[in-house]
Amino acid sequence: MPTYEFHCKECGYYFEFFASISEKERKAKEHSIACEQCGSNKVEQVFGGFSILTGTQVRQNTGGGSGCCGGGACC
Ligand SMILES: [Zn+2]
Repeated sequence: MPTYEFHCKECGYYFEFFASISEKERKAKEHSIACEQCGSNKVEQVFGGFSILTGTQVRQNTGGGSGCCGGGACC
């Protein structure tokens, strides 16, 4: 099952969310993905290399704007 990384705009906490793609899309639309720390649903998906599971911050997206091609692993 894919892992998605989210960032809480409320408290700044990063967390990972496990769900199927369709389930994630649905929950994102419903704003039912909540921060694990403060419970806020003001979360945004993070596309980058931050991994809670390994505890290592591989790389933040340093790209200047367009899409995901800022040096991440997606391209
Ligand atoms: Zn939070």
